Formats: sequence, structure tokens, C-alpha cells
Amino acid sequence: MYDVIIAGAGYAGAVSARVLAEKGKKVLILEEREHIGGNAYDEVDEHGVMIHTYGPHLFHTSDKKAYDFLSRFTNFIPYHHTVMGNIHGKFMPIPFNLNSLYVAFDKEKAEKLEKKLLKAYGAETRVPILELKKAKDPEIRELAEYVFENVFVHYTMKQWGYKPEEIDPAVTARVPVITTHKDGYFTDTYQAMPDEGFTKLFEKMLDHENIKICLNTNAFDRIKLKDGKIFFDGEEFNGKYIFTGMTDVLFERKFGPLPYRSLRFDFEYHDVSSYQEAPVVNYTVSEDYTRISEFKKFTCQKDVAGTTIVKEYPRAYEPDSDMIPYYAILNDDNKALFAKYKALADKYAGLVLLGRLAEYRYFNMDAITSHALEMAEKI
Ligand SMILES: Cc1cc2nc3c(=O)[nH]c(=O)nc-3n(C[C@H](O)[C@H](O)[C@H](O)COP(=O)(O)OP(=O)(O)OC[C@H]3O[C@@H](n4cnc5c(N)ncnc54)[C@H](O)[C@@H]3O)c2cc1C
Repeated sequence: MYDVIIAGAGYAGAVSARVLAEKGKKVLILEEREHIGGNAYDEVDEHGVMIHTYGPHLFHTSDKKAYDFLSRFTNFIPYHHTVMGNIHGKFMPIPFNLNSLYVAFDKEKAEKLEKKLLKAYGAETRVPILELKKAKDPEIRELAEYVFENVFVHYTMKQWGYKPEEIDPAVTARVPVITTHKDGYFTDTYQAMPDEGFTKLFEKMLDHENIKICLNTNAFDRIKLKDGKIFFDGEEFNGKYIFTGMTDVLFERKFGPLPYRSLRFDFEYHDVSSYQEAPVVNYTVSEDYTRISEFKKFTCQKDVAGTTIVKEYPRAYEPDSDMIPYYAILNDDNKALFAKYKALADKYAGLVLLGRLAEYRYFNMDAITSHALEMAEKI
């Protein structure tokens, strides 16, 4: 009956479903949650405010193909995202830039540092913090130390529950100082939000005669893997099985659980028109939460009087609890553990692991869109 069965209706599942359906394949999606959209799901709360249930999602990309594909299912409204850091009560732009210098230091010192940075790295340059720490100039190294200490290190330890050296260098290298006076969190060509939200985007993407969706359905209840064969409702299935859930759970954690970071989200409604001075404020030196996001400042919702915010508390993921595994913890041991599961998966010719959980890596929304487009084309 079906050519393709997909576990999960997030970006990985929905994008591949749409591409395959348009090629004439009959697609069945099994989604364990009561809604589509995966972690990008958004909804209106009891106060009438559009919220992102699984944390703030901002769309940004320089990948025209991913942008054009998603634009078929929504009207993207340009949106320039800014983030402030609350550092000992002072609000300064994040990533740390030339404007941040003037909040962090007195005018004379800030001017001196600005000149030195522009001379050493040129204007409009993203300089990774690890590079600044290696500079010959002691004042640049001192600045690097300030940013490392006040913007990066405590925040990172809160986020990951680890020391920075225990984190994958790819993550560490992402923290930049930018030699610009333009505030802005992203530098991508397209920075936009879907006018009616992400859930509506998913509804349109999945609205195709060749796609059937079963919500509240754990794929493990209907699909079993045994001796290189895939069984659907007890019958051997010879189509493709695209799995976007947790790969360790797919194989009953036989080599042990893959470690993840989870988050607790505390939502608060406030009867004021604005709660904070930026859409997102990062608490880089204080508080147990990492950041406060104020939804109405970045969703396209208009005419809403009050405001809903969310505080994010990172925590270790506990297997078999009701926690959600949000971020793979990418270190050598965990990558090696994942490789063992991947080798098992490779024994099933019809099985495709796709997405942030199944492939045990981090994808932004544009990256997973592009990856799923490619994977579906290959299939
Ligand atoms: C806090 C947070 C903030 C983020 N912010 C941004 C941002 O600002 N910009 C950006 O570009 N990206 C952001 N991301 C990344 C974005 O969430 C991912 O790119 C996207 O969710 C990846 O899609 P996916 O389909 O791989 O995974 P998911 O969205 O997690 O979808 C997987 C789906 O599979 C379902 N599933 C799992 N197991 C089973 C099973 N056994 N049976 C049936 N269904 C199953 C799950 O319920 C889920 O719906 C953020 C991520 C987090 C955690």
C-alpha cells in the first residue's frame, strides 16, 4: 500500500514526505506526538499569544534552494533578529561587536580597542574567540579574556553542563567577536519568519493526496526490524523506511544510551506590552536559565496586548523519562557510540536515518531541509 513509511513529522520527515509524494510515491507518516512540526511546532497559548512550544525558532539561511522550497508553503516576512546579553545588569549586543565594546568599557578604552580590532582583522569580520585569545597584542588578548569569561564560558557551562574543553571544537568556534557596529544575530542572506507560523507551514507542506499521517502513533508499535528485514504491521515491508527518531532507541539501546542535553521551558505571561528590550536576552554570567525569549518580538503576530516569555533551563537528558532530547552531545566517545548504531542500521537496505535525532547531530531548520531534499532525491 505504501512505498515509503516515515517515522516523525518534523522537518526531516515532512520535507522528504513532500518530495517523495510529488514523485508519485505513497507515503505514510507515523508521528508519536499529537501534532506535526517536530520541535518547530508553534501554537497560540491561552492568552492568545503565539508561542514556540519547544523553544524559540528563528529562520535564517543562505541556501536559496531550502528557502525556495519552504517558501512554497508559507509567506516569509523579513525579520532581522537581535540578541542582547545581560552581563552584570548591563545589556550589550550578542554576538559581541563594536557596540558591545562601548557598553562593556569606558569610551576611551572602547575607542582604542575598536582601532586595534579593525587594524588586526578588518571591518565586518567574524573573529572566533579562540583566535582572539591567541593574538600577540595583550589588549586584544585581554578583550578575548573578557568576552570568554563574560559571554562564553559560564553560558556554555550552563548550556552543556561541561567545561568548554569537553565540547566539540565546532561548537566552541561558533562564538565570534564581530568587527561591526551593526547589531544582528545572523548574517544569512534570508532572515525571515513564516507569516502564519511554522505549524501552518507544515500543514501546507503535508497537504498532498499521496501523504497519510497517523498522529499519536509511535513507529515502534507498527514497525519492527529483524535480521536485515523491515516489518510493518507484522508483514515484511520492501519499501523505504525513513526514521527520524532516536537511533539508540531504534536498536533498544543495545550499546547503551546516546547522551543528550535536554531543556526545561518555563513559560510566563505578563500583562504588559513589552517585557524586555530585545527578542532574546542571554544571561551569560548569572541566573540558572540561559536566556529569556519574548515571542511577540519575533513571530509575525500583530495586535496582541500582553506578552508571553520563556525561560530556558538546560539539564542532562535522562533516558526513559518524559524529557525531550534536544541536543546531541558531540564528543569523540559519543560519536563512536553512534557509529556502532549506524553500522547496525546499515544492515537494513530499506532503512534511512534522517534528521537531528536519527543522525545524532545538530541541524538548523534550513540545513535539515536541504539535507532532506537531497536524501529524498536520492531515494
Ligand atoms: C531549543 C531549540 C531551538 C532551536 N532554534 C532554532 C532556530 O532558531 N533556527 C533553526 O534553524 N533551528 C533551530 N533549532 C533546530 C531545529 O529544531 C531542528 O533543525 C529541527 O527540529 C530538526 O528537525 P528533525 O525533523 O530532524 O527533528 P524534530 O523536529 O525533533 O522531529 C522529529 C519528530 O520525530 C518524532 N518521533 C521521534 N521518534 C518517533 C517514533 N519512534 N515514532 C514516531 N515519531 C517519532 C518526534 O515526535 C518529532 O516530531 C532549534 C532546536 C532547539 C532544540
